[in-house]
Amino acid sequence: MSQGPSRLAIGCHLSTSDGYAAMGETAISLDATTFSFFTRNPRGGNAKPLDPSDVATLRTTLAERGFGALVAHAPYTMNLCSAKPETVSFARRAMADDLERMESLPGNYYNFHPGSHVKQGVDVGIELICDGLNEVLVPGQCTTVLLETMAGKGSEVGRSFDELARILDGVQHDELMGVCLDTCHVWDGGYDIVEALDEVLDEFDRVLGLKRLKALHLNDSKNPRSAHKDRHACLGEGFIGLDTFRAIVNHPKLKSLPMILETPGGMDGYKKEIALLRTYAGERAKGEEA
Ligand code: FE
Ligand code: FE
Ligand code: ZN
Repeated sequence: MSQGPSRLAIGCHLSTSDGYAAMGETAISLDATTFSFFTRNPRGGNAKPLDPSDVATLRTTLAERGFGALVAHAPYTMNLCSAKPETVSFARRAMADDLERMESLPGNYYNFHPGSHVKQGVDVGIELICDGLNEVLVPGQCTTVLLETMAGKGSEVGRSFDELARILDGVQHDELMGVCLDTCHVWDGGYDIVEALDEVLDEFDRVLGLKRLKALHLNDSKNPRSAHKDRHACLGEGFIGLDTFRAIVNHPKLKSLPMILETPGGMDGYKKEIALLRTYAGERAKGEEA
C-alpha cells in the first residue's frame, strides 16, 4: 500500500453519530486522510462521554493509514463573546470539556468560530474571546486550538487577519493556538485568493505569521468577493473556481496542511472532490497502484 507521507492530508466533515471508529472507516472509503467532526451536539447540553475502546480503534486506524492531523470543530452555537453572560459561561464550560475529551485523541486540532459580538463592538468581543481562552487553555494540553477565519456575517469577529492577530496577542498561552483558513470565508471577507493568492498569504504572514496557519477549510463560495454571506458551494460551482483549488493543493506553503471540505454535495460530492484534488496534486487515486 503506497500511502506515503507525501500524500495530501485531505478529507471532509463527518458525522459522529456512529462513533469514532466508524468515522475512520468512512474516511477510508472516501480516500480521505484527515477529517473533521463536531465535538458535541450544537443544540447544547452535555456531550456524550467518549467510549475508550471506540477511540482506541480510531487511533489505530489513523496511525496505520498515515492520516494527517484531524480538525475537530466546536459547535457553531458556542459564542465566547455573546452579550449574555450565561451564553459566555456555557461556551467556556463546553470548550474546556471538549478540550479535556480531545486529550484522548492527542496531537490534533480543535477549530472554533471566534464568536459574534452582537452590538458590543469588536473591542469588547476580542476581550471576551481572550478572557475565555485564558480561562480554558491548559498549559501542556495535547490539542492546538484554531481560530477560524470568518466571512464577517453579522457581527462575527475574525473577518480580518488583524482581528485574529489581536485575539492571539491577548492569549497568555498562545503556543497552544493557531489559525484555520476557510477559503469561502476569507473570500467573502474580502481577500482575493483567486487573483492574488500569494499576496493574501504574504499578508497572512505579515499580520499573523505563516507558522500560525495549521489547517484549511476548502469550500467554494456562492457569492462574489466581499459579500460577507458565508454560503458554501461545491468546488468549481461558486465564485472561487477550480483553478484556485488546484493552486492551493500544489502550493509549497499550503500543500502539507490538513485540508477539510465542508461543501454541500454530501458523501458522493466529497468523494469526487477528494479524488479531483488528488489528481490535481499528481497523486494516484485509491486502487490505482503502480
Ligand atoms: Fe467553521
Ligand atoms: Fe469552515
Ligand atoms: Zn462557513
